[in-house]
Amino acid sequence: MTTFYFILIAVVVLALIFGVILGFASVKLKVEADPIVEKIDALLPQSQCGQCGYPGCKPYAEAIANGDEIIKCIPGGQTTVVKIAELLGVDVPTMDGVAEPEVKIAYIHEDMCIGCTKCIQACPVDAIIGTNKALHTVIPDLCTGCELCVAPCPTDCITMEKVEKDIEHWDWKIDPKLVIPVLNTSDGKAKLVVGE
Ligand code: SF4
Ligand code: SF4
Ligand code: SF4
Repeated sequence: MTTFYFILIAVVVLALIFGVILGFASVKLKVEADPIVEKIDALLPQSQCGQCGYPGCKPYAEAIANGDEIIKCIPGGQTTVVKIAELLGVDVPTMDGVAEPEVKIAYIHEDMCIGCTKCIQACPVDAIIGTNKALHTVIPDLCTGCELCVAPCPTDCITMEKVEKDIEHWDWKIDPKLVIPVLNTSDGKAKLVVGE
């Protein structure tokens, strides 16, 4: 019995010593996060899709902080470019001469889907719905076109389809500071109610 208590006390003492060492190390060896990287990262969509050429949003945020171009996040699009430019206090890059990336979304050919759920597990933004042994489908509005679901599909039933620019998908590039004048004519006289 005495031996048991001795071992118990030894284990408790060792645990306390290691706890103190780990606590000390976590304070002393803490790596301070770069605040500008964190701020850029917060503006990125967090799809972790790699379309920017980096293995995720954080590495791309670090690359931007080190001077890389701010136009590489395809899911984020122009809106994200404008926000990053505002954060960094730089001009929004002109896209003259730069081909706009083709917008694509995933499409599941449901007649070939065996319901294996591999695509759901691969999708970083939960844009696929379905359940085990049932057909799956993509929610177009959530799909960022990252293609990460294509390779894992064992029946090759996922294809990337080009999104045509129609009135629903057109990027109007509206200046958020633009004030559109509105006239109130309900009492017979034109009165400017917005944009005064
Ligand atoms: S393309 Fe955009 S969303 Fe995808 S990993 Fe890069 S920064 Fe993240
Ligand atoms: S559905 Fe496929 S292409 Fe679309 S976001 Fe998910 S993984 Fe990417
Ligand atoms: S990976 Fe392919 S077969 Fe499996 S559930 Fe997704 S679409 Fe269906």
